[in-house]
Amino acid sequence: MAITLDLAQRADTTNSVPASVVPTMVAAPEKPTLVGLDRAGLAEAMAGIGIPERQRKMRAQQLWHWLYVRGASDFGQMTNIAKDLRATLDEHFSIARPEIVSEQISVDGTRKWLFRFPPRGAGRPVEIETVYIPEEGRGTLCVSSQVGCTLTCTFCHTGTQKMVRNLTSEEILSQVLLARDRLGDFPDAATPQGAIVPSEGRLVTNVVMMGMGEPLYNFDNVKQALLIASDGEGLSLSKRRITLSTSGVVPEIARTGDEIGCMLAISLHAVRDDLRDVLVPINKKWPIKDLLDACRRYPGLSNAKRITFEYVMLKGVNDSDADARELVRLLAGIPAKINLIPFNPWPGSEYECSDWERIEHFADIVNRAGYASPIRTPRGRDIFAACGQLKSASERMRKKDRDALEGAA
Ligand code: SAH
Ligand code: SF4
Repeated sequence: MAITLDLAQRADTTNSVPASVVPTMVAAPEKPTLVGLDRAGLAEAMAGIGIPERQRKMRAQQLWHWLYVRGASDFGQMTNIAKDLRATLDEHFSIARPEIVSEQISVDGTRKWLFRFPPRGAGRPVEIETVYIPEEGRGTLCVSSQVGCTLTCTFCHTGTQKMVRNLTSEEILSQVLLARDRLGDFPDAATPQGAIVPSEGRLVTNVVMMGMGEPLYNFDNVKQALLIASDGEGLSLSKRRITLSTSGVVPEIARTGDEIGCMLAISLHAVRDDLRDVLVPINKKWPIKDLLDACRRYPGLSNAKRITFEYVMLKGVNDSDADARELVRLLAGIPAKINLIPFNPWPGSEYECSDWERIEHFADIVNRAGYASPIRTPRGRDIFAACGQLKSASERMRKKDRDALEGAA
C-alpha cells in the first residue's frame, strides 16, 4: 500500500520530517527568483537593487552560501546580512520554494512529489513530478527537465502527453532543494558555522535527469542547474554522481561532456534502425550509427567514466538472443554499462514487459561479453513512480476526481 500525504495530513503523519526542515508552503510570489542564478547572475541582481559595485561579489557569495549550503528559503534566515538589506532583498526578490501538492511514499521507501510552480509570464502554473529512490548506501533523485516531452517514444507515457514548456534552471534546481528539505538533508542548517557537509553524509547522493522531458532539448537551463548542483562550495554533488539521460540528441552530446561534465546515459532500446525509428522516433533524425559515433567521442570517456546504455525490455519486440548479440557487437570499443529496464506498463500502452527468464537470458549474453548489465529493479510501482510513468498518475488521479465531481453534479 502506498502512502499519500496531502498538505493537511502532513502535520500528523509519522513519515513527516521535523518541522524545522518543512519548507514554506506558500506558492512563490511573482517576484523574480534568485534561485538558479549563477554567481554572476546574483551579482547582477544585486546591481539591480543598488548594491555598490565593491560589495556585489561578497553579497553574491553570502547568498550562494545561504541558498545552497544552508538551504535557506526565506531571507529572514540570513542572519549575517543586515536586517535592512534583508528587507530590501525580500521586497524585490523571492527565494521561496514551489508548492508541494502531494508527497507519496511507496512501501519500498521510494518517494514521489508533485510540485507546482507559479506561472511564467502569461503562462499557467505547471506541475511536475520528482522521485527519490533510497538504496543501500545511496539515494537517487530522478529530476524532470520539461513539462511533458516533444518526443513521442511509443513505450513512454510521458511521450503521450503534450509538451507544455521547458523548466527554468530555478525549477530544475528546486527539485533538488525541495527533496533535500523534505528528507532533512540540509543537516548543516542546524550548525551555526554552516560548514559544508561532505556528500557521504547526505541522503540525496545521486541525481539522474530521467524524469519527464528530454534534457538536451532544454540544454541551457539544465546546464545551469547542474553546474550549481555540482558546485563544490554549495550543494556539492559530484559530477560523477549526476547522470543525464538522452534519447539521442546527437548535436548536444559533446557539449554535455565539455560544458556540464556529468555522466551520460543513452536510451538505446533497439539495435536496428527500423525498430528504433518506431520506439524512439528521434532515431529518424539521428540514427544509431551517428548516435554511437557521438558516444565514442564523448569528452572524458574512459573505463572509469563509462556511458550507460538503457535498454527497455519489450516482450517479443527487442528481447531476442540475436538482439543481445547485436547490442554487444554495436557497443564494441565503447566503455559502457548496459542497464536493462523491465518495461513499466501504463494504461493503453501497446507493449508488454519481457518475461523474467528472457530478461535474465538476455543479461547473460551481455554479461558474458564482459559488460556489467544490471537489471533495474522497478521501484515505487505502487505510487506510479517508475520510469516513463511520471505525471501520468497525477493526471489520472485528477481525471478520476473530475469524473467523481461530474457524477455528483
Ligand atoms: N528523455 C530522456 C530522459 C527521460 S526518460 C530519455 O529518453 O532518455 C528516462 C528513461 O526511462 C529512458 O531510458 C526512457 O526510455 C525510459 N522509459 C520511458 N518509459 C518507460 C517505461 N514505460 N518503462 C521503462 N522505461 C521507460
Ligand atoms: Fe521523451 Fe524520454 Fe519519454 Fe522519449 S523516453 S518520450 S524522450 S521522456
